[in-house]
Amino acid sequence: MNRLARLARRFADAALQLTLPLFDLDVQRAPREPPSRAPSPDRARQAEGTRAIRLRSQQLQYKLRRSRRRTIGFSVDEYGLTVSAPRWVGIAEIESALDERGDWILRKMGEFRELVARRERDAIQWEHGGSVPFLGRRIVLRVVPQHRGAPQLERESLAISLPPAADSRQLRDLVHGWLQARAREHFAARIAHFSRHLGVQPSRWALSSARTRWGSCTADGSIRLNWRLIHLPERIVDYVICHELAHLVELNHSARFWGTVGELFPEHREARRWLREHNEPGE
Ligand SMILES: [Zn+2]
Repeated sequence: MNRLARLARRFADAALQLTLPLFDLDVQRAPREPPSRAPSPDRARQAEGTRAIRLRSQQLQYKLRRSRRRTIGFSVDEYGLTVSAPRWVGIAEIESALDERGDWILRKMGEFRELVARRERDAIQWEHGGSVPFLGRRIVLRVVPQHRGAPQLERESLAISLPPAADSRQLRDLVHGWLQARAREHFAARIAHFSRHLGVQPSRWALSSARTRWGSCTADGSIRLNWRLIHLPERIVDYVICHELAHLVELNHSARFWGTVGELFPEHREARRWLREHNEPGE
């Protein structure tokens, strides 16, 4: 690999490493060197796709992906278990790696089942009278025919004007737009506040709508924050912002990094616990 490619790779890795996952479940086995001579490829052994395995006497399925990475990686999300492995690693080795991490995998899968159940319970009803979490409280949606213009927050309810024939998707899009505008305002103010304390500013920041991450920080000092954070309590939003800002100073998760987070946001342990219990099953 030439120097530039190596550098690009390092930055790509850094960007990955510095994201704050919703579900921080990607773990890696120790790096393994590729064999000097590729083994004769047995197509069945190499195949990608869905496979079954028995773990701790439980039958489960996983998705196998062949990737360019040099390690076997596991990730669990609401859709189940995915294993990524280099082409030269056979099924037997993958299954022994799965067995080694069996307790962790089963625990995470259980946590995701609970999470999915909780999400269904908390799902927003996109209709008049439905409620939406907003900075930790719930605001009630009120479709008011005589209301004109943009949605407007009045105490604990959001007045919305919609044409009589509007459906729930239009209501959802309108409220999402309003929430994203509030996220932009709120996050900008908090970034400015904590940047002053830190003495460092991000080179730029933007909202993201990533499915699996609350925030990320790249090596060039650019921060992305998931707009859905606007649903969470203010202190949790503050924690995520402080976490990403601290990466401007420490591009890692070292003790020094956590020291910086602690200076900005002393209650970070409680916030992490909250995220784990509510949205992020495990780290
Ligand atoms: Zn981080």
